[in-house]
Amino acid sequence: MKIFFDLDGTLIDVSKRYYFVHKKAALVIGKKSLSFKEYWQKKRKKIPENKILNIDSESSQFKEYQKIRINLLENLDYLSLDTPFENVFDTLVALTKKHKLYLITLRRNEKNLNTQLKQLKLNKFFIKIFSSPPDKDLTITKIKIIKNLGYSKNDLIIGDTEADTEAAKKLGIRSVAVFSGIRTESFLKKYHPDILIKDVSHLLKIHL
Ligand SMILES: [Mg+2]
Repeated sequence: MKIFFDLDGTLIDVSKRYYFVHKKAALVIGKKSLSFKEYWQKKRKKIPENKILNIDSESSQFKEYQKIRINLLENLDYLSLDTPFENVFDTLVALTKKHKLYLITLRRNEKNLNTQLKQLKLNKFFIKIFSSPPDKDLTITKIKIIKNLGYSKNDLIIGDTEADTEAAKKLGIRSVAVFSGIRTESFLKKYHPDILIKDVSHLLKIHL
């Protein structure tokens, strides 16, 4: 069986990176940033960045914020804030014994992605690592990658957002949603993943 893993929010905790990028970008445009807790709670409920900042999405101020945000999100200094979730390594070691693991991530900077994966020692578990800049529709981007790769109905997608669950549904394969990342448990429930768990370490407790 092939398992298609998402990276951000699924294998690694990105909350600090997202927060410090928000803080920096808000400072540059002269807006007050939120506390870590406030920002992350809103983010996990999918509240858009302009609403988090309380500014018009069409304003030049917000466009500037987004530009800074996108640049900083994949900057190596900020990427170094990411940490693997607890028991990620044990989980991946166990899963590689039975299954073929692929990593699919929607990043813009492939060089920095590879540097980060090497630093975190996460690169060795995967047969292949795919990264693609996100299209407007993240679900479609994921579907395209998996279609190119080849899949069968017994395969599995594991991710922390609705894009992962929706991609699985449209491909007719199973989905595991984890609420360790950028969405809450109640948010993900609305998308009816086949399996909903706190984090990837729970994969070892269920029969896949
Ligand atoms: Mg993710």
